[in-house]
Amino acid sequence: MPSPVQEIKEDLFSEKGVRVFVKREDLNHPVISGNKWRKLKYNLEEAKRLGHKKILTFGGAYSNHIHAVAGAGKKYNFETIGVIRGEETLPLNDTLAYAKSCGMTLHYINRSDYRLKNDRAVKRGLQLAFGESYIIPEGGTNNLAIKGCTEIIKELTEAYDHYCLSIGTGGTISGVIDGLDGKASVIGVSALKGSFLTSEIESLLSEYSGKVYNNWQINNDYHFGGYAKVKPELLLFMSAFENRHNMLLDPIYTGKAMYGLYDLIHNDHFDPGQKILFIHTGGLQGRKGFGL
Ligand SMILES: *Cc1c(COP(=O)(O)O)cnc(C)c1O
Repeated sequence: MPSPVQEIKEDLFSEKGVRVFVKREDLNHPVISGNKWRKLKYNLEEAKRLGHKKILTFGGAYSNHIHAVAGAGKKYNFETIGVIRGEETLPLNDTLAYAKSCGMTLHYINRSDYRLKNDRAVKRGLQLAFGESYIIPEGGTNNLAIKGCTEIIKELTEAYDHYCLSIGTGGTISGVIDGLDGKASVIGVSALKGSFLTSEIESLLSEYSGKVYNNWQINNDYHFGGYAKVKPELLLFMSAFENRHNMLLDPIYTGKAMYGLYDLIHNDHFDPGQKILFIHTGGLQGRKGFGL
């Protein structure tokens, strides 16, 4: 079932002559939800096809991806191993408590070892310790994840002038860009400080399809201090938005991207008459880490 698309109305939007729609990927799967479901879908199929019983992956202590893999493992009968950055803190936070309740084995590694997680030898060592596993990288981004994310676009029944979404590793936006195949324009609002994402996405796209697209850009103006950092103005914006539209956002990704979209509309970034699709990438489990 395609996730629903709904229009949101604001005086700001009618003043500027634009229409804003939200693709509710936060509603796309009962257990996993959001872009992490899109990214896992074909990876789960591939793990099964290759006969793997175990999935091993990486993430921080509040990771939506860890949460998703744990939930998927339980639902689709894989053993799961989560290699977690940093030291164990007890009691477990909600994300890790959920992962554990799904049966995930949690293995903590220090931050400097964590940086080596894509190293072949390090992966081999983990395989030896935990047994042959299907390994999914941090954040879930690989070619099969990008393939899954193209379907966010392929299941739409209408076209829009602009597509706007939050980005972390760039896997989801790569799928969106490829799914659009050069049409319209895509704006990725970065949840991180730093401007390395453009080249990262270029290389993800070239590895995925070898195509070069010029209809996308990364906006670095709405990270609010960096990954998982928040500011009062962001949290106030989110709670006002949530009350008015009866739709939740998360403070790490979708809240920042939605704030960015409103600000861009306010600053006349879009032309009157244009339709914008905001892709709600989910991540609502992450609210708990902020007491929301
Ligand atoms: C992981 C995540 C993102 C970032 O996705 P990437 O594919 O890593 O760019 C955006 N929004 C939410 C809610 C996420 O959980």
